[in-house]
Amino acid sequence: MEKYLSQLNEAQLAPTLQKDGPMIVIAGAGSGKTRVLTYRIAYLMNQGVDAFNILSLTFTNKAAREMKERIATIVGDSEAKNLWMGTFHSVFAKILRFEADKLGYPSNFTIYDTQDSDRLIASIIKEMNLDKEIYKTKQVRSRISSYKNSLITVKAYFQNPELMEADKMARRPRLGDIYKNYVDRCFKAGVMDFDDLLLKTNELLTRFPEVLAKYQDKFRYILVDEYQDTNHSQYLIVRALSDRFQNICVVGDDAQSIYAFRGANINNILNFQKDYDDVKLFRLEQNYRSTKNIVNAANSIIEKNETKLDKIVWTANDEGPKIKVNRSLTDSDEGRFVASSILDNKMQNQLLNSDFAVLYRTNAQSRSIEDALRKRGIPYQIYGGLSFYQRKEIKDVLSYLRLIINPADEEALKRVINYPARGIGQTTMDRLVVSANGYGKTIFEVLQNIDKVDINVNSGARNKLRDFTTLIESFQVMNQNANAFELADHVAKASGMIRELNKDSTPEGVAKLENIEELLNGIKDFVEGQKEIVDATASLAEFLEDVALATDLDADKGDADHVALMTIHLAKGLEFPYVYIVGLEEDLFPSAMSMGTRSELEEERRLFYVALTRAEKQAYLTYALSRYRWGKLIDSDPSRFIEEIDEKYLDILTPAEERRFNPMLDSDIFGDPEPNKVRFKKPVQPTFKKKGPPVSKVEKKQLPTSKNLKPVSKTGGNTNLFDGKLVVGNMVEHLRFGKGEVLTIEGAGADVKAEIKFHNGGVKKLLLRFAKLEII
Ligand code: ATP
Ligand code: MG
Repeated sequence: MEKYLSQLNEAQLAPTLQKDGPMIVIAGAGSGKTRVLTYRIAYLMNQGVDAFNILSLTFTNKAAREMKERIATIVGDSEAKNLWMGTFHSVFAKILRFEADKLGYPSNFTIYDTQDSDRLIASIIKEMNLDKEIYKTKQVRSRISSYKNSLITVKAYFQNPELMEADKMARRPRLGDIYKNYVDRCFKAGVMDFDDLLLKTNELLTRFPEVLAKYQDKFRYILVDEYQDTNHSQYLIVRALSDRFQNICVVGDDAQSIYAFRGANINNILNFQKDYDDVKLFRLEQNYRSTKNIVNAANSIIEKNETKLDKIVWTANDEGPKIKVNRSLTDSDEGRFVASSILDNKMQNQLLNSDFAVLYRTNAQSRSIEDALRKRGIPYQIYGGLSFYQRKEIKDVLSYLRLIINPADEEALKRVINYPARGIGQTTMDRLVVSANGYGKTIFEVLQNIDKVDINVNSGARNKLRDFTTLIESFQVMNQNANAFELADHVAKASGMIRELNKDSTPEGVAKLENIEELLNGIKDFVEGQKEIVDATASLAEFLEDVALATDLDADKGDADHVALMTIHLAKGLEFPYVYIVGLEEDLFPSAMSMGTRSELEEERRLFYVALTRAEKQAYLTYALSRYRWGKLIDSDPSRFIEEIDEKYLDILTPAEERRFNPMLDSDIFGDPEPNKVRFKKPVQPTFKKKGPPVSKVEKKQLPTSKNLKPVSKTGGNTNLFDGKLVVGNMVEHLRFGKGEVLTIEGAGADVKAEIKFHNGGVKKLLLRFAKLEII
């Protein structure tokens, strides 16, 4: 057997060596699904399958890159290069570029990111004189996006009375018209948005059987990672392409399906066996990533979901330390805890910063963590905030480049026509749009004919427009001979951008210049990395495409040593030795928006499962008792997810440890930290809440400081813990289990547990710190 295959266990070998036919690997986190895909590709190539005939679809481009690198070590660099690997979006953007003319697009089409889409939608809403409070840009965009991902075209929309009725009911009767306008404008501008990359691929494969046949023949072996998070549009593409040879291998974990809000359809994985004949099903059960404690804790969580496939996950790894639970007074304290704990761990265990990740539910939570890390001098990188390529100054340069490649690109033009300031005002701009729409031409075409078109602008403005047009045309001429770097460098200077930024000596201004320099370096790298530059236009178009589809996860070259901060959604598929999951509070995680239905809550629970299973050696769960949200300090209760973990896997910090990290935590507030003194929470929230804004919380007027902190009244609702002495024989009521009697009490401090016999029959041992108990 080839040497690399010995790095797989028997269960992993089976799907790896299964060369032909449809197959699915369903397995829990960390069991080697991605490893199987990787090795399977190497094996196929060793079996004589041509790399050009293999298509592998991953969730991030970074994952694709890593897989490719691993495969290269087995089959050699030059062969691995020929593999088609990447996200759905990046792979099909390339195919669309080849085939663009069939769909009526220019092959140099540019790509609108969500920011561009939002701007266009906002201007359409304005042009249509609609109320922007009712037609909120982001909501409209998300509606359009879900239509596209369900393959509901504008035509299909207007043929579907139910959809129209639904939008009418939502007080947005003109949604279809906005949709139509948006699609027309994108088409006219020669651009595709993210959803188009899938929608148009589907259109291409359905309308042109010869094109479908070509790609079916090309991609004889198709592999898909993270299949549980594919949406309908992606599902159809995979089905169509694999239809002829049926060599389709998908891997996934239904318990890690976390993108329903973006249209992911968990049924794609659940129904796979019905979609193809003779599907081979493989299961992997051994987790190689995490300690026993982490694996078992994660199992105990996901068990609570009703909708799931039964799976076994176990590990032969060490027991490992228990999962540490920490509560803090405020979100700032939570940040300080994370920072101190990272420093502690680094000192004790000789670790790198990159051994740590801090995961949160929402991007906004990063601020307090960042502040704390910065204060302690711990280098960190935030992933998934504003990506480098979305920063204003970078988008400005890129917009010039987009306009050179594709002068029809409306949003690119609007961004740069008056940046740097050229005295072309909003009125002139509005008139240009009206004129372009009237003639059915692009804005740039109107500009090129500014002396002939009927447009109400004075001669001063006309001159300025003419100068701008000449400037762009001069760039286009240069583009025919220069490479992408030379062109970009010239554009940054000749457009006046560099001069403009040079005037700004604030640190922000300097940083912007540095960013532009960084962009130029990136373009230089790209140019040098290209094997043969056919012509500069091709190379620039390709660069712009890469950039449009890049996430900043992709930008990470992995060379710097920093703590990683990201949302849980982004962390899917990744692993880190030490993981802090912060903000484990009701209404935050689970999110207030996701407690309306069981299926939403179950998705939150899957998200928690994903978070916990990123950890290799040690996981921390933290929560704060009050937190700034929406500009207000609000009280919070610990997340139900903490309570749901079997307590034997948890290690709850003792009050003394707590005070070490949070000196402000003292007995006045949280009850007597003496051993044997019981602390428990008052009963809180019903398990399911009505959808809508978070239930009102008691607000505090000011941040607690050691001076203004006073013992809080037990009835004031200002704290979620109050002390009381629970003794054997007490009758208590639990939110979920109902009434019962205390049989025994054991443990000390924060670890006090009570054994309770509930009237409904069960005897349960509960950690009082989390049990939602009330003495009755
Ligand atoms: P996720 O569900 O989180 O995507 P996964 O099932 O894709 O996880 P992998 O990322 O492939 O799991 O593997 C998890 C970790 O276990 C990786 O570090 C991988 O290298 C390691 N691993 C997998 N299989 C083996 C094996 N047979 N021997 C040693 N290590 C392994
Ligand atoms: Mg994986």
